[in-house]
Amino acid sequence: MDWGFTLNGFILHEDRDRVIIATGFETPSDNRKTGDMIQVWILVKSVSPTEAIRTGLDRLICGSCVHRGDGHGGGRSCYVNAGQAPLGIWRAWRAGRYAPLRSLEAFAGRKVRFGAYGDPTWIPLSLALAIAGVASGHTGYTHQWRKPSLQAWRSLLMASVDSIAELVIARSLGWSTFRVGSEASVVENLCASDRDGTPCAVCLLCAGARGGLESVHIPPHGKGSAHFLEA
Ligand code: SF4
Repeated sequence: MDWGFTLNGFILHEDRDRVIIATGFETPSDNRKTGDMIQVWILVKSVSPTEAIRTGLDRLICGSCVHRGDGHGGGRSCYVNAGQAPLGIWRAWRAGRYAPLRSLEAFAGRKVRFGAYGDPTWIPLSLALAIAGVASGHTGYTHQWRKPSLQAWRSLLMASVDSIAELVIARSLGWSTFRVGSEASVVENLCASDRDGTPCAVCLLCAGARGGLESVHIPPHGKGSAHFLEA
């Protein structure tokens, strides 16, 4: 089947419920918004990504993210089409096409997108920090930013917030923020990709709180935008 992208990649980590796979090492991603970045996918092991959404098992990779919808695929406002890249990568993993990552060399000098699908806080933090340390840049987002146990991720990830009130809380906790919404607030920058087509691999603003806080805003986009509700 032609998925419109390449399946080359490595298994970064597995636990009982999830497998974490990085793709895009040999052939650049054709994602025009991100540009050429290694993409890190967090997937449910036991069922396909589409079945995980239908049965609610996507909570194992998405946590409490509101964009999951009603927990059975209804009202889903996530921009990721799980039936495309996530499904293809899950099937390739089930078919044994990915080997475990043996060396961080593969990330040296590359740009990395933590969480092309799924919440990146299921990557062991030490591994994510090591990858970011050898990479030439990264982006990442988490909806789990309120959890006390995940505060150390502030240095790597943006807090995905769903309202101005959440933005204020997240910034007070030391998080840079990313928000989908129809209007920007005074502290938010319009996403560069939306502004002038600059890809994430060039912009790299969404890399957590490094020296100061950034807040990024983007209008609703992608597959779930029809179900987007302003918080
Ligand atoms: S602000 Fe930059 S890094 Fe963040 S999503 Fe937009 S283009 Fe990508």
